[in-house]
Amino acid sequence: MGLMDDLSSAIGSNDDEINFSEMPLFNDVEIEPLEVLLRQCVMQNIVDGELILDPGEGNHFFYLILRGVFSVHLDSTSNLPIATLSVGECVGEMSMFDGKNPSAYVKANGTAIVLAMDSATLWEMIDLSHGFCRNLLHILSKRVRMGNTVVTDSLLIQEQHKRDATIDVLTGLQNRRWLNDLLLRLDQVSLDDIAPLTIMMLDIDHFKRFNDNYGHQLGDEVLAKVADVMQRRLRPIDKIARYGGEEFIVILPSSTVSAAKIVAERLRQGVESLRIMNEGKPLVPVTISIGISQWNGCQDIESTISSADKALYEAKSHGRNRFSCYP
Ligand code: GH3
Ligand code: MG
Ligand code: MG
Repeated sequence: MGLMDDLSSAIGSNDDEINFSEMPLFNDVEIEPLEVLLRQCVMQNIVDGELILDPGEGNHFFYLILRGVFSVHLDSTSNLPIATLSVGECVGEMSMFDGKNPSAYVKANGTAIVLAMDSATLWEMIDLSHGFCRNLLHILSKRVRMGNTVVTDSLLIQEQHKRDATIDVLTGLQNRRWLNDLLLRLDQVSLDDIAPLTIMMLDIDHFKRFNDNYGHQLGDEVLAKVADVMQRRLRPIDKIARYGGEEFIVILPSSTVSAAKIVAERLRQGVESLRIMNEGKPLVPVTISIGISQWNGCQDIESTISSADKALYEAKSHGRNRFSCYP
């Protein structure tokens, strides 16, 4: 019997016999001279979920997949696989060459059978067959490319995370971190560009009382609704962010205080007209107070923010549900 028949019958499947010449590793390779070496390899039955490569452990074999499917995972097997490998593909060659632990987890998805080749046999194969060596190089270069794709993908994911880190989850608005980044970038030149520039600080009135009366969960819903209604009433060039708790900041480029007053009134009305229901009944309207301050052309932007804050304090002390300006 030839090697193929031997392996096929060892695997226990005659109708679906192993065909080395169809495997990328043996593409255009004469099998006969390699038979002795292939017979030195060990055929292993792998159970579902078993790891054949684990970065936490050393690896002493180069595996050729004869049956089944394997998934490749970085960091943890609970992460989504970065690739799947099936019959004819191989794994473990990297650690054969560099002697280091595997760089990924390779896990069987269902039962599988692999041919395990030790390092000495692999080197003998390489010495014996140019074709085998060429195919192995081809496989390795694919591996390197896959590594590069993973790196690129992970850079894209990092970008996405960075974006997510500037968005407030509850309201979907930009958050304080985004604001801080923006403020760092706003120098005299860029401020001149968007002047006249007006800043508004907004704060929900008696929100502690609201939470106490109706619960934090309904409070959260209100926060999201208030954010939404305000965002809808701003121009695309205006920027709104959740400043903290139940406070918001609005940056109005190309707007004087008089223009900002109109916007403030629009936001105030928008929030007041929200219908908030509790146990099927509408609640007394939620309101906001607003402080307005215009950048004076030379102060740093933080001073404008604290002026808007002073104006907000004034709006609160004058009875809430209104706007005030400072200076
Ligand atoms: P004022 O009109 O003076 O602003 O009164 P206030 O009660 O709104 O102000 P205070 O600063 O005393 O309380 C703010 C409240 O906002 C306290 C806190 O329970 C509530 N709050 C802050 N962040 C959140 C949040 O993410 N979700 C909910 N539900 N409530 C929040
Ligand atoms: Mg408040
Ligand atoms: Mg507050």
